Amino acid sequence: MRFELVPIQESDTSAVGLKYRINVNMDLSVSNMSDDTVVLKTNVKISQGLGPENLIANRKDKTCIIPLPSWVENRVQEQPFMDTQFLYILIPDKEDSNLLVSYDVIGTGLFFYIQQLNYPDVFVYPFDYEYIYPIGIPINKIEVTAPDSMKIFYSHKKGTNMNEEITLSFINKKYFQEENLKIKDIKINIFTPDSLVNDTSLIQRKKELQTYINTLSPYTTKKEEIDILLLNWRDEKNRNAFGRVFGNLCICDYKFAANSLFHEVLHIIFPSKVEAFTKGEYFIKESIIEWLTLYLSQRLDKIDMTLKLGDQNLYDTHINDITTWKLIYNIGPMILQKIAKNEQVGEERLAKVIIDFLQEREGRITDYVDFISYLEKYVPFEIAQELDSIVKGLL
Ligand SMILES: [Zn+2]
Repeated sequence: MRFELVPIQESDTSAVGLKYRINVNMDLSVSNMSDDTVVLKTNVKISQGLGPENLIANRKDKTCIIPLPSWVENRVQEQPFMDTQFLYILIPDKEDSNLLVSYDVIGTGLFFYIQQLNYPDVFVYPFDYEYIYPIGIPINKIEVTAPDSMKIFYSHKKGTNMNEEITLSFINKKYFQEENLKIKDIKINIFTPDSLVNDTSLIQRKKELQTYINTLSPYTTKKEEIDILLLNWRDEKNRNAFGRVFGNLCICDYKFAANSLFHEVLHIIFPSKVEAFTKGEYFIKESIIEWLTLYLSQRLDKIDMTLKLGDQNLYDTHINDITTWKLIYNIGPMILQKIAKNEQVGEERLAKVIIDFLQEREGRITDYVDFISYLEKYVPFEIAQELDSIVKGLL
């Protein structure tokens, strides 16, 4: 599957005010058809003019290319931002075929959101916001191209339940300055908007980030390239700043503290695959990473050990938003610190156990139960049990 970012001509009145569209182009092999129509599904959230258009399907034979009838149907859902599109391709003889399929799509999602925050030349298409590519078909390989003025970031992974997880991002190189940090075989590229290059606080935080990254040296031998894109990405009214990892790209608000940037870097270096709605998911997805962030940046003493669990528990927490942040990012690390402080464990041992666990499970699906049984092997059984009980809200 090839994705090409294509400039929209100013004379194109169908997309006034928009700068780019994506041309999706694929080699699609079809076999064992029971019906004469191939149906591909995308879900561009608001499809009016932004969903797939200009669908073209051809069958590739040994000697020639045969055009096939094809059309797009948009289904507007009653709830906003839930539209789906069906791309139909008719193969009258139902024969096994190699097809060449292409369409154009503009898409919505984060793309518009970040655009509103004054970065007209940042485009992000995350798979979990909307699928601009067909859902549920296995994708062998992707290629991404864009005009020379644009820097491309992309990631392609098989997610849990084998869904293809593709995120495409593009920024205009003209408006960003690139800096590089290196620790062993890990290269970190930081992209800062021109307007913030001389921000003294940001310069200071980037220096701090470098010192934190140096502490990773004994723990990893990985070869990795990480991109950090700093933007204005926050909700001033509610005093929230955002950051997210898309494959090897981390996009975060430029006011992020150095340790928050480091937290995101750790997600990339020690990734975990935990299925949504499994028990204790956010303890594994976030709390252990936050504790590790504090350990490696020598800030464990910043943990407030007097926090009370309240009615919520981490074990049954399945959302990560303002209502659960304290639980996930403060109470979770506090629980781990209680265990680390036990002289039969110690901070260094706990850090090693967490890192080894994440490294050994990389690329595989894991969960909370798996973590607890791993922990039981490396710390005294009763201590692992105690941690389990606190996470479950039983102690
Ligand atoms: Zn995180």
